[in-house]
Amino acid sequence: TTYVYSFGNGAADGDATQAELLGGKGANLAEMAQLGLPVPAGFTLSTDCCNDFLSSGGNYPGKLREQVQAALATVEGIMGMKFGDTENPLLVSCRSGARQSMPGMMETVLNVGLCPATIPGLIKKTGNERFVYDAYRRLIMMYADVVMEKAEGVEPIDDMGIRSQLDRIMEDLKEEKNYINDTDIPAEDLKNLCDTFKKTVREVLGVDFPDKPEDQLWGAIGAVFKSWNGRRAISYRRIEGIPDQWGTACTVQSMVFGNMGATSATGVAFTRNPANGENRFYGEWLPDAQGEDVVAGTRTPNPLNKDTKNDQNEHLPSLEEEMPEVYAQLYEIRNNLEKHYRDMLDIEFTIQEKRLYMLQCRVGKRTGPAALNMAMDMLEEKMITEKECVMRVKPSQLDELLHPIVDPAHEKTSTVIAKGLPAGPGGAFGQIVFTAKDAVEWHKSGKQVILVREETNPEDVEGMRAAEGILTARGGMTSHAALVARGWGKCCIVGAAMIKLDFKAKEMRIGGKVYKEGDVVTLNGSKGLVYEGALKMVDATENPRFKAFMTIVDKYRTMGVRTNADSPQDTLVSLEYGAEGIGLFRTEHMFYGGDSEEPLFLLRKMILSDTEDERRQALEELFPFMKRDIQATLETMDGMPVTIRLLDPPLHEFVPHGRIHQEELAKALDIEVDDVVRRGEELQESNPMMGHRGVRLGITYPEITEMQVRAILEAAAELIRQGKNPLPEIMVPVTCDVKELIFAKAITDRVYADILKTFSLDSIDYKYGTMIEIPRAALMADKMAECADFFSFGTNDLTQMTFGFSRDDTGGFMADYLDKGIIDADPFQTIDQDGVGQLIQYSVERGRKTRPDLKIGICGEQGGDPASVAFCYANNLTYVSCSPFRLPIARLSAAQAAL
Ligand code: ADP
Ligand code: MG
Ligand code: MG
Repeated sequence: TTYVYSFGNGAADGDATQAELLGGKGANLAEMAQLGLPVPAGFTLSTDCCNDFLSSGGNYPGKLREQVQAALATVEGIMGMKFGDTENPLLVSCRSGARQSMPGMMETVLNVGLCPATIPGLIKKTGNERFVYDAYRRLIMMYADVVMEKAEGVEPIDDMGIRSQLDRIMEDLKEEKNYINDTDIPAEDLKNLCDTFKKTVREVLGVDFPDKPEDQLWGAIGAVFKSWNGRRAISYRRIEGIPDQWGTACTVQSMVFGNMGATSATGVAFTRNPANGENRFYGEWLPDAQGEDVVAGTRTPNPLNKDTKNDQNEHLPSLEEEMPEVYAQLYEIRNNLEKHYRDMLDIEFTIQEKRLYMLQCRVGKRTGPAALNMAMDMLEEKMITEKECVMRVKPSQLDELLHPIVDPAHEKTSTVIAKGLPAGPGGAFGQIVFTAKDAVEWHKSGKQVILVREETNPEDVEGMRAAEGILTARGGMTSHAALVARGWGKCCIVGAAMIKLDFKAKEMRIGGKVYKEGDVVTLNGSKGLVYEGALKMVDATENPRFKAFMTIVDKYRTMGVRTNADSPQDTLVSLEYGAEGIGLFRTEHMFYGGDSEEPLFLLRKMILSDTEDERRQALEELFPFMKRDIQATLETMDGMPVTIRLLDPPLHEFVPHGRIHQEELAKALDIEVDDVVRRGEELQESNPMMGHRGVRLGITYPEITEMQVRAILEAAAELIRQGKNPLPEIMVPVTCDVKELIFAKAITDRVYADILKTFSLDSIDYKYGTMIEIPRAALMADKMAECADFFSFGTNDLTQMTFGFSRDDTGGFMADYLDKGIIDADPFQTIDQDGVGQLIQYSVERGRKTRPDLKIGICGEQGGDPASVAFCYANNLTYVSCSPFRLPIARLSAAQAAL
C-alpha cells in the first residue's frame, strides 16, 4: 500500500480532489505545488495510514518507514538540505489535516529536527543565533505539550499542563528583564530559556526531551494521528456530524521561517472579505513571527494592505507598504488561486528573508451576506456558472439576510443572562412586559416591548403582534409562540427554563437577579440568547442583490413552493417572498383576535347551542364572515391554488375560561352563566389534540362542514362572476379513514350543485383532498386517494402521533434526548426521515398508485427546513408549504436539491 504522497518543485502525487485521502490541507498543498506556486516541499501520510495506526493501537504500518525515508530523501534533494545533518540541517513541520477543516481542533508541530546536534550548523548557516534558539524554544513548548503530554490523546481539562508552565516561565523572564514582546528576548536569554524548559520537562513529565531528529519526527507524526481522538476533535465532530472513521492525514513539510528578523514574516489572508463579500484582498501579517502567532493574538497583527486597516491596527505598517514586491507577488497569487479554484479562499503564507512561501489554502468560511455578494460578483465576473452561484449560498445563510440581527461584535462583549430555544429568527430589544394587554398598550404609546410569558396561547396573539420580540419560559419549537413568531418572521425565544416569572409583582427572576416591568433586554432569536440592556442591531435592508439571486434560484427549481398564510397581509408578504399558492389556510384564524370580535362571539354562540336548529342559525350568522375572509385571500392569490382547511381545533379552545368572561358571554347570549360553565366542562378533554377535532367535528355536526364548504365555494363563485380565477382546494383535517372523506364529500357535492345552480355556472375549478397527519391515514393512503385529489402531509401532527411525543410538552425531555444522542435532531424542526419519512414515502407510493395525478404537498413547520425540503424533493412531492418568511429558504433548498 502507498501511504506517502510527495509534493514540491512544481509537481505532486495528488491534487485538490483528493481531500478524502490527503486531508484538505495535504490535497490543496499538492494542488498549489502543481500550479507552480512557491510551496515548501514535503509529503503527506494518508488518512488510511492514520486509521491503520489508530486501529492497531499506535503501531506504524509495515513499509511506512521505508516510504517515509524515500519521500524525505526527495525533499532533501529539492531543498538541498539533510534532515538531522550537523552542517546543513533540514527542519520540518508535522501538520494535521482532515477531509473537512476542523480549525484548531487537532495538532501541528513545527521545527522538528532541531537539537543540540543540529543547532550549531543552523546557526552557522543562517548567522542568526537568536532565530535558532527561538525556533528551539518553540519546538520544546509544542512538542512537550502535543507529543509528550498528550501522547495518549487525552487532554488535561484545566490549563495547568506543561504548556502553561513553560508559558509562565517565559512570561516571568520577560517581566524580570522588561521585555515587552517575545521578539525582544535576545539570543543569550533564549538559549538559557531552552535549558530551563528541558529541565522543567524532565521534572514535570518524568522523561527527557528527545534530542534525536528521528525520534522527534516519529513522535510528532504519532501525535498528529492521535490528535484525531483528542477531546476537542471528538466534540467538534459530534457537533458537525463528522464521522469518526475519516481520520486525519499528516503532512510533513520543510520548514520556512518567518521568525528570522525584520524581513521575515508570517500571515493569513482571505482572497475576498469574508464578512461582507467585498472583492478586496483581506488579511493580517506579523513581522518576525512563526506560524500560530497571528491567530494566537499575543501581538496585534499588522494590516495586509490599506483595505485592511481599522481603528486597532492603522498605526501599524501594512505589508503593501513594508514589502511592496512581496505583496505584489502575493496579490498575483491571490488572483491566480481564485481563478483556479473559482471561489474565495483562505490562505496562509510565510516570508523568509523577503521570499514568499505558500503554506495553506482552502475554500474560506463566510457570513450569509458575504456568501450572497460573492456568488453574485463571481457570476458577473463570469468566474462561476448560474448553477454554481445557486449552490454557493447555504439556505441557512439566507436567514441572516432577511432579519435584522444583533450586532455580533456587540454580542461578543455582552453577557448572556438566559438561554432558550431559537424559535424566531433575528434580533430584537425592548422593555419587558408580562401580559399581552400591556404589550398592546405600551406599543400604542410608542414603546418597544418584549413580551415575556410562561407560554403563549391564542389570546396573546395581539400582544405578540405588538411586541418586538417574544420570550417564554416554557414550550418547544412548535409551541404556539414559536409557530406564530416564525410565521411573522418575528424574533422569539421559547423554553428559557431558567426564567422564573411572577405575574403579580410583574417581574422575572433569572438566577439571583430581578428584572422588573420596563427593564430592557435584547433577544438573539437565531441563537436563543437573552442579554440585559439594548444591544446594537444590524439592519438587513431590502437587497436588490438578494432579489436577483432568487430569480436565478427559481430557474433551477422544479418543486413548487407555497405558504402557510391565514390573512390577506400574510398572503401579500408571501407573494413578495415568492409563494406560488397557499398550502395551508387555517379557517379558525379569524377567531383568534382579528380585527373584529364578532366571529368569535358567533362561534361561541354556535358552540353553546342546544339544538341543531340553533346551531344552524348561529352558523348562518357566522357564514358572511367566513366567506369574506376566504374570499379576500382567494382574491389576493388570484390564479393560484389556495388550500383551505376545514375547522381543525377542538371546540373547548373557544369557550371562555375565567368567571368574568363566562358571565359576559352568558349575558350577551341571554343564557344562564351555569350553562356556559356546564358546556365548557362537557367539552373538556384530557387529551384534546387527539380528541373531538378536525373531521370529527363535521361528523358530529355536519352543518359546520356544510357552512364552511358553502363559504368557500360561494366566495369562489362570486369571484368568477367578477371575472377572476379562484382556485380553492378544500382540505379535510385529522382523517384516518376514507369513509370520513366520503361523508364530507357528499356534503360538498350537494353544496357544489346548489351553488352552480344559484350562480348559473358550469363549474368551479376546485379540488377536494385531505391532510395525512394520522399514521393510519398514511397506511391507508391507497384508499384515501380514492376520495381525494390531493394529500397534504401535516408533519407536525404526524410526527407527534408517530413518536407519541406531545408537541406542546416536548420541552421537558427533548433537550435530554438530543444531549444523550437518543435522537439526532428535533423531529418537529426537521423531518425524521427514518420513521416519519417511511410513512410519507409509503403514502406517496400508495396514493399515486390509486391516482397517478395526485397532488402531494407538506404543510408542517418542516416545510421550510432545508433537509426536509430535500427529502420532499427526493420523494416527488408536488410542493412544500411553509411560513412566508421561510419561503426563500424553501426555494433555495428546492433548487439545490434539483441540481
Ligand atoms: P492549523 O490547521 O491549526 O492551522 P497548520 O498545520 O496550518 O495548523 O500549522 C499551524 C501554523 O504553522 C500555520 O500558521 C502554518 O502556516 C505554520 N506552518 C506549518 N507548517 C509550516 C512550515 N513548514 N513552515 C512554516 N510555517 C509552517
Ligand atoms: Mg492552518
Ligand atoms: Mg394537524
